[in-house]
Parts: sequence; structure tokens; C-alpha cells
Amino acid sequence: MKFIQQQPLQQLNTFGIATTAANYVKVTSLSDVQTIVTDRYWLSEGIKVIGGGSNILLTQPLDGLLVHNQLKGINVVAEDEQFVYLKAAAGEQWHDVVMYAVANNWGGIENLSLIPGCVGASPMQNIGAYGIEIKDVFHALEAIAIGSGEMITFSQQDCQFAYRESVFKRALKGQYVIVSVTYQLRKQPIFNTSYGAIEQELARAGITNLTVKAISDAVIRIRTSKLPNPSAIGNAGSFFKNPTISASSFAQLQATYPEIVGYHLPQGDVKLAAGWLIEKAGFKGWRSGDVGCHSKQALVLVNYGNASGSDVWALATNIIDKVQAMFGVSLEPEVNIW
Ligand SMILES: Cc1cc2nc3c(=O)[nH]c(=O)nc-3n(C[C@H](O)[C@H](O)[C@H](O)COP(=O)(O)OP(=O)(O)OC[C@H]3O[C@@H](n4cnc5c(N)ncnc54)[C@H](O)[C@@H]3O)c2cc1C
Repeated sequence: MKFIQQQPLQQLNTFGIATTAANYVKVTSLSDVQTIVTDRYWLSEGIKVIGGGSNILLTQPLDGLLVHNQLKGINVVAEDEQFVYLKAAAGEQWHDVVMYAVANNWGGIENLSLIPGCVGASPMQNIGAYGIEIKDVFHALEAIAIGSGEMITFSQQDCQFAYRESVFKRALKGQYVIVSVTYQLRKQPIFNTSYGAIEQELARAGITNLTVKAISDAVIRIRTSKLPNPSAIGNAGSFFKNPTISASSFAQLQATYPEIVGYHLPQGDVKLAAGWLIEKAGFKGWRSGDVGCHSKQALVLVNYGNASGSDVWALATNIIDKVQAMFGVSLEPEVNIW
């Protein structure tokens, strides 16, 4: 393994924030991971893991050791009449796994096409889009404990998945390196086209015969037209989670803002569209220097070039404060702040 000091990180995070890691190493095998996470020196310095860097905001130079997960491999590990169990190593690109499933006509993750980042991070925040979340197809994951080097298998229940949440962002934060994830995919796909603009896009393209590939292609076209491409404008996708409030608080807000956007959840609460709140608070398209709020997607904060992580975080806290003051609603970052 090659340990590098003062590794530049601008190319390793989709926000394009220029900072450094005091120490950096790429890991390509399970034994690399085990060697590092049981090393007393690195344990005392602190270990952080990175995949595609598409869900982090770097607000300062990183101390300790940054471990770049490059474990590779995609394999079918089991199958039965209904399902295929597809195991992917943590360093595989998530979209490559989706394309693997699409090529084989296995259903379940086509709605999650084109989400940036790696397999290892997919369960971290239970990635989701267009009505599907990882938890819907999750079978198990393997992770190596930082400290003991022990390999543990986590079931769906162990992961405690919730909206953009898992046990790895909460109780077990910073305690494991995820090394593989196994997804349960359907041989006879069940399609979910009800969310977002998928149906309109399929109709626009004249698709009447639904296939895994047709849906994946539609999602790719929608995402490409709607979301800023990080290689052109630095960003980490949605910066904030959509907040949930009680039905009575929602009714109060509706009295003042009849056009407020909210989805009634089965439990009775209401999930608000954070983008709507941010736009209403006046930030959509806002820009100061190289930091801004995207002109088409208020939920996406952007780095137009040389913004620092603290510039972006200053805008984020400004938005949080203004939304709190206007609506009494707390916005929580979806992005991991480092
Ligand atoms: C344009 C754009 C669109 C996006 N759209 C969506 C979307 O539709 N839905 C969605 O859910 N997300 C979306 N995201 C966010 C992001 O793509 C996902 O969160 C993705 O899973 C992050 O993967 P990553 O490898 O880049 O993680 P990183 O940014 O590298 O890491 C994210 C977190 O996971 C931890 N981590 C990463 N790998 C491991 C590992 N192997 N073991 C332990 N911890 C690990 C890191 O320490 C960090 O805390 C979008 C981002 C962008 C830039």
C-alpha cells in the first residue's frame, strides 16, 4: 500500500473543494483494509473512509488517514426462482451495478440509475430516488470493524434503514468500513413508474412496453436534464433532507402558505419539500462569489469554481436559519459535513 502525505482532494469530492488529507491510501483488498483498521498508529490518528466523494462537504483539511475504497468485483452469489442475489464490492461505482442489473433484466434498482458514488456508501444513507430506496432491495452487507478488524455481516434489520439514514450514520458512525453489499433483485421485475416524471418521460419517448432498461433510460434522461453535472459545477446533489412535520403544524403553515408542498405520510406526519422552503426563503439562484444555490434546483448548493467548504457551509447555515425563522422548520443536511 502506498501512503501519500498531503494528498490534494479537489478531484476526489464532487463539490470540487480544494483541500488536503494529511495522509491518504487506496485500498484494493480486504487484507489492506484489515491491516489499516488494526494499526495502532492509524487508530490513534483517526481513520476516515471515502468512496466517490459525492456526499461529503470538506470544510477543513483532513487530519489522520483517508482510506479510499477501491475494492472491486460484482458477482451473483445465489439465486432462486424469484430472485438473484448480486454482491458488489464497496469500491464499485453504484451506476455500474445498476447497468449490470439492467443488462441482465433484473429488476429493483433501475429507478436508482445515475446516482453518483460507490456501492459502499449506498447503504450509509439508504440512497433513494423515484420512489425506491436501497432498503427495498437490500439483502446484506459485510463490514470490517475499525479497531478489531473483524468482518461482520449486517442484515436489513441490523442496518436500521430510514429516510437517508442507517445505523452507520448514527450509533455506529465511524466504526466500520463497508466492504461489500448484496442486493436482492427480481427475475420478474415489478415496475414502479408512479413517482416523479417517469411516466411522462416514458410517454414522451413513446414507450408502451415497460422494461427495466426503458425505465433506467427514462430516469437517466430525467436526471441528466434536471441535475447539475458535478464535473461541470461542483455539488453533492440534495444538500438537505426533506423535513417531516406533524399534520397540525402543516395545517398551520398551509393557512399562511396555501401553495406549500407536502406529502402526507402513512403514519400521519407530512414530509415537506425542502426545495420549496428554500426557494420561498429567497435562495434559489442566489450566488455570492463562487458559492451558490442552483438556479433550477434550490436543494442543490453549488461551487462555481473556487468556493471553500466553509463558504458552502456558511450558505447552508444561512439557509437553515432563514427557513427556521420563516417557517419554524429545521432543515438537516443530507450531506456529511467533514
Ligand atoms: C449530482 C448528484 C446527485 C445525487 N443524487 C442522489 C439521489 O438521487 N439519491 C441519493 O440518495 N443520493 C444522491 N446523491 C448523493 C450521493 O451520490 C450518494 O449519497 C452516494 O451514495 C455517495 O456515495 P460516495 O461513494 O460518493 O460516498 P462518499 O461521499 O465518498 O461518502 C459518503 C459517506 O459515506 C461514508 N462511506 C463511503 N464509503 C464507505 C465505506 N465503504 N464504508 C464506510 N463508510 C463509507 C463516508 O465516510 C461518508 O461519511 C447525489 C449526489 C450528486 C453529486
